[in-house]
Amino acid sequence: MKKEAKAFPPRNIGAVNGMDGSNAAQETPAQRDFERTGIWIFDLDNTLYPAACNLFAEVDVRMTEFIGKQLGVPMAYARHLQKSYFRQFGTTLSGLMRIHKFDPQPFLDYVHNIDLSVVDEAPDLAAAIEALQGRKLIYTNGSRRHAERVAEKLGVLHLFEDICDITACEFVAKPEPDAFDRMMRRHDVAPLEAAMFEDMPHNLETPHTLGMTTVLVEPDHKDHPAHMQIRRWQARPKYIHHTTDDLTRFLEGLVAHGSETEAGSSAVKPSE
Ligand SMILES: [Mg+2]
Repeated sequence: MKKEAKAFPPRNIGAVNGMDGSNAAQETPAQRDFERTGIWIFDLDNTLYPAACNLFAEVDVRMTEFIGKQLGVPMAYARHLQKSYFRQFGTTLSGLMRIHKFDPQPFLDYVHNIDLSVVDEAPDLAAAIEALQGRKLIYTNGSRRHAERVAEKLGVLHLFEDICDITACEFVAKPEPDAFDRMMRRHDVAPLEAAMFEDMPHNLETPHTLGMTTVLVEPDHKDHPAHMQIRRWQARPKYIHHTTDDLTRFLEGLVAHGSETEAGSSAVKPSE
């Protein structure tokens, strides 16, 4: 399902003179690009695969079912709890663990037991990721098994050095700053050398503060509350340095831009 990339050239990509990464706090977001990026960190759900395939909707429904069955409450109330915990704690699972002392593993096994037939193989995405210079990591609030299954279906699993999942982070989830600390320690990530790709805007605030380059992969299918807030933006928040609605084309553009720069061609100008 290839489409035209409306957001390419990626906004704000440009050569930046004198940016050595030592003073992230004084940079404006428009200055932060990919020249120093040595580790590429990708969220999984609705980032590596398009939100339009609606895979996460299956997970969403199964979360409601699990809560309803485990707590013995009507599905409508289970749904209310699910969304309340997401808003209050960052993830539904965090709320279930804190409020109801749920064992996380049965929850993760249940909600990720989904049919992946809606996820298409993505050879162009695989080629684009493979062409990026540096380390590559999947960082998800879901489970490793889910990430492995989805990445394998996309045909990109072999391109990543590892997956940082919610279990590896001891169930501390994005967007909590402690979650990013755990991920960075575990995978030896220097934030000034990292770029973070995410579909959830609030999950990019801490990466920005840490000095990472941030990319919002805008969902083409905005029915999640966190996605719907994007519609209401008067201006893009400062913690989002780049946006794209087509991850593959965005990455292809980065690689092409890097090749041009190495070959001595004129640098791509910022598009805004
Ligand atoms: Mg996501």
